[in-house]
Amino acid sequence: MGRYEGRVAIITGGARGIGFGIATRFAEEGASIAVVDLDETAAAEAAAKLPTGDGQKHTGIGCDVSDGEAATAAVERTVSELGGVHVLVNNAGITRDNLLFKMTEQDWDLVMGVHLKGAFNMTKAAQKHFTEQKLGKVLCLSSVSALGNRGQANYSAAKMGIQGFVRTLGIELGPYGINVNAIAPGFIATEMTDATAARLKMDVDKFRELNAEHNPVKRVGFPEDIAAAAAFLCSDESSYITGQTLYVDGGSTLV
Ligand code: NAP
Repeated sequence: MGRYEGRVAIITGGARGIGFGIATRFAEEGASIAVVDLDETAAAEAAAKLPTGDGQKHTGIGCDVSDGEAATAAVERTVSELGGVHVLVNNAGITRDNLLFKMTEQDWDLVMGVHLKGAFNMTKAAQKHFTEQKLGKVLCLSSVSALGNRGQANYSAAKMGIQGFVRTLGIELGPYGINVNAIAPGFIATEMTDATAARLKMDVDKFRELNAEHNPVKRVGFPEDIAAAAAFLCSDESSYITGQTLYVDGGSTLV
């Protein structure tokens, strides 16, 4: 029996990259998935690619998580289409990198809006269901950049904010059977990091090679690496773990 049989999981930003990796892993373990992403067509296409066993159903929902009303509607649509909600992964993310003197107010607001307000909006909407059923798992995506990264004042602040968010919700929601944790990935090969290579005018493979050199395991990470940790942290096996941030980074923060 899969760890996620009978569970419904919402994965924001699930149409590609790390989010799609997590959605795939959860579906392989028996979950029904709501892929929530900016573009409904992309979300539906991703949902259609997920493995489907007995009793499983997936859906794609278009939603900008930084919009509170849209976030609430996405959670309610999940409940009505998939019959409930038990797991929320706040994965949607963007970057708007620049040195502070060049960073615009819009760059700041957009990054805060998607990462921090998006996690707030989605979690607030889902916790209503989680507290009623006395069961819920929330996982947020932080980053090694939370510890500081040149050119990412907005992203770094948002990702450290996520760590405070999960610590506080761990305290508030623990008594209701809800676990709230974060994963802080190191370099993961996705379109987000490929876009960074393009911005630096570097070849994607060269950029990955350089980043692989920066950690003790000497390789870059892949969405499957994050999905494996996520599958543990959102399962009942981790019910004594809450408010924590797990660094999944090939040891890059050790050196
Ligand atoms: P990605 O490939 O760029 O995928 C992000 C997804 O989020 C895209 O499908 C994007 O949709 C969606 N999205 C963006 N804004 C949204 C919004 N307002 N509402 C709903 N969906 C939205 O990124 P990734 O590399 O998989 O990263 C996933 C998460 O891990 C992010 O939170 C990121 O900060 C974090 N992370 C990544 C790395 C890494 O090395 N890749 C490292 C540390 C942390 P569109 O395609 O339509 O824009």
